Amino acid sequence: MSTNRLKERLDKGPVICAEGFLFEIEKRGYMASGEFVPMVSLDHPEVLENLHREFQHAGSDIVEAFTYNGHREKMRVIGKEELLEPLNRAALKIAKRVALDTPNRHFNQGSRPNLMAGNISNSNIWKHNDKESQKVVESMFSEMIGWAVEEGADMLIGETFYYAEEAFKALEIMKKTGLPTVLTISPMGENKMRDGKSVVDTCKELEQLGADVVGLNCFRGPSTMLPFLKDIRKAVKCHVGALPIPYRTSEDYPTFFNLPDRSNCECPSPHGRTFPTALDPHYCNRYEVGQFAKTANDLGINYLGVCCGANPMLIREVAESVGLKVPASKYRENMENHFMYGKNKRIPKHMTDYGDKA
Ligand SMILES: [Zn+2]
Repeated sequence: MSTNRLKERLDKGPVICAEGFLFEIEKRGYMASGEFVPMVSLDHPEVLENLHREFQHAGSDIVEAFTYNGHREKMRVIGKEELLEPLNRAALKIAKRVALDTPNRHFNQGSRPNLMAGNISNSNIWKHNDKESQKVVESMFSEMIGWAVEEGADMLIGETFYYAEEAFKALEIMKKTGLPTVLTISPMGENKMRDGKSVVDTCKELEQLGADVVGLNCFRGPSTMLPFLKDIRKAVKCHVGALPIPYRTSEDYPTFFNLPDRSNCECPSPHGRTFPTALDPHYCNRYEVGQFAKTANDLGINYLGVCCGANPMLIREVAESVGLKVPASKYRENMENHFMYGKNKRIPKHMTDYGDKA
């Protein structure tokens, strides 16, 4: 029996997982928004590798291969199906390289190299009660999981599922490998799965099917994810995962898909919604994200991260808010030495006095 390195770490304390590669790579100019295909692993591997390293520096314990949306259906949509396997293998190889290269100073609890995670996600063609579409999805998942195992994945993440049955199918295929599994779901604005199952029942069933971690990722900000997390934590015995988007969702707008713009916006997006390119005014500050992580961790949730909208600064905030020291902690906030607002005795009084008028 090989040991379950993910579970071992979770049993000891928080494990951080940076997600949100889609938005961050798009922001950096290497992916078309809306289309969202992760060609970056082939087109600009150095950019992807560097982002992994930045997340690692910020405290991520897991290097998740960026194969989100890198599935056969999406590659068909853009007419590049022949690049499917090269894209997946390139992303997995980059993630493995970074995981094996974890800097020593990162180790929080003794020897603790990063874990490389293979990744599958919502296929967008899964249709309720439609065996034909479900067969296609099953083969899409199987080929991606096969490549992840061949490229040396230490664990598998299935994420962003809004159909319960699709999540079950993903987990079933992931479980066959014997690797540790994380399965996080993403209910949309109806606050239930699209095939009608409740969020909590879906997580309970995922636990029964053998997932090491069940929980929520994406679509929801801290305030509309937390109530579900409380219920999930009570309902399951296994580890729970919490990876919100860092945006201010609300009861009226539980996900980021339909968030209206601020009323004083002078230039709304040409496509008429804030998602996905004009969400900026809804951004959570780092303290809100840190507070979410701390609250979740206090509930007994140890698998923590941030999804779409994540950046290294927020990952460091999550890690530090649950008591971890990470390489980027060296550069954490230090207002003490600010030229107007610092308390350092070298800061001249004529500058600190002027702070309120600045
Ligand atoms: Zn996301």
